[in-house]
Amino acid sequence: MKYVLVSGGVISGVGKGIIASSTGLLLKTTGLAVTSIKIDPYINIDAGTMAPTEHGEVYVTDDGGEMDLDLGNYERYLLTTLSRDHNITTGKIYQQVIERERIGHYLGKTVQVVPHVTNAIQDWIERVARIPVDESRAEPDVCIIELGGTVGDIESAPFIHAISQLQRRAGKGNFIQIHVSYVPVIPPGPDGEQKTKPTQRAISDVRSAGLNPDLIACRCEQPLEDATIQKIANMSSMEQYQVVAVHNVTTTYHVPLLLEKQKLIHTISNLLDLPSIPRPADRI
Ligand code: ADP
Repeated sequence: MKYVLVSGGVISGVGKGIIASSTGLLLKTTGLAVTSIKIDPYINIDAGTMAPTEHGEVYVTDDGGEMDLDLGNYERYLLTTLSRDHNITTGKIYQQVIERERIGHYLGKTVQVVPHVTNAIQDWIERVARIPVDESRAEPDVCIIELGGTVGDIESAPFIHAISQLQRRAGKGNFIQIHVSYVPVIPPGPDGEQKTKPTQRAISDVRSAGLNPDLIACRCEQPLEDATIQKIANMSSMEQYQVVAVHNVTTTYHVPLLLEKQKLIHTISNLLDLPSIPRPADRI
């Protein structure tokens, strides 16, 4: 199983869900079976009890799961049918761990965030990633994991720890991370300057949390200038091809094209050691 983690920094609502769905779609066009998991680090069991005015509409999966809207994006972009288990929350993980504790599953051990909660997160991801989700009924080749919120939020910490362990479990060439950041234009408008400092901070925060992104996707209201891309790459000791520009578009269905133009699929194929697979008609 290959994993693509999409995380975010600077602000919430930066576009992680759209970038995760679009990346999955590009991988799907190469003939791979792609699934997705959304992690919401809040303590609610699911989005069903959350006010739509605060959190957007609730998306309901075929099995009645009440989810974050991003799950709807995944189903639409990737033509998949997801289940309630494809959405992981802190509430669900703790509920499972506490139920296990009550039936003596931990054999007298002190139940702790590390390793019990972090192992429960990894086991959940590994189990759900293998569930067939498209009409081919094939076991997925790639799982896109979107980590909701921003890295540095207190609720994310157990998930980040679990994901860095999952990266080791998956092995070299089987895991990449795309960190989504925001490049503000100040003052807003065509004459404004594209500011890179928030992105530099976001990269430094995610690295100090124990993850080392392979790619930085930079959302900006306007196309990123070459100088901005170069500056972000230089300041964070990355190559220019690792900085992916995602400007505002009139419809988010243009985002896969934006990524494709920057040869994202080529970059990801190299990083994930993906074979060049011909497109079987049944998987497109
Ligand atoms: P996150 O997952 O980080 O919370 P989303 O992917 O849900 O963010 O996107 C937040 C909002 O921004 C959504 O309304 C989405 O349609 C919009 N959006 C995301 N990317 C773009 C883009 N490149 N251009 C215009 N709107 C975008």
